[in-house]
Amino acid sequence: MSESQTHLNSMSKESLIEALKQSARESWHGEYGEERAVEIETFLRKMLNNYSQVLGFSEEEIFQKLESRRDYSAINYYQECNFPLLEEVEIFDTIKQLNEKFPSHQFICPCCGGISTNPTTCNSGKEVKKGKVCDWCSYGLFKTMGKGYLFAVKQDFLTNPKVHEIFMPAELKYREYIKNIRESIPRGQASSL
Ligand SMILES: [Zn+2]
Repeated sequence: MSESQTHLNSMSKESLIEALKQSARESWHGEYGEERAVEIETFLRKMLNNYSQVLGFSEEEIFQKLESRRDYSAINYYQECNFPLLEEVEIFDTIKQLNEKFPSHQFICPCCGGISTNPTTCNSGKEVKKGKVCDWCSYGLFKTMGKGYLFAVKQDFLTNPKVHEIFMPAELKYREYIKNIRESIPRGQASSL
């Protein structure tokens, strides 16, 4: 463990928040810097509380891990696109549970609509334009364009503290498809499906 890591692990939540607010203030002059400081504090308190409640780790533990992994500016890192509130995220206790839920290893690419066996980089082989095969990545700038699947795994969260965004598992897509069919059928007839 490096010296800075040891130092980080001994910092309280309040002193970490204070340090990040200070770096936000210094990132911009005057009032706007202060606004940024308030924004980052509000976000951190809300996110840490939510993550601690849902995942069962202390806010301090989560915060120290996140800080130890951060390798760019706090203002850009602590954003809802990186740390969405966990209401929209499926939580697994273990990686085994995750794998059991999606045994097909088939995922729907948000760009070409094809089936990819890789959950984060499309390998469907579909041509998106002449001579160009789809290679969409779920971790690119546009992620999954809102058509993906978000999850976190408690077992490895402190080692790899992030919410994962992958292509929609085929199992979920199929369920959604069946649900849409049922809803499109007039009432009273759906029970025969
Ligand atoms: Zn694709």
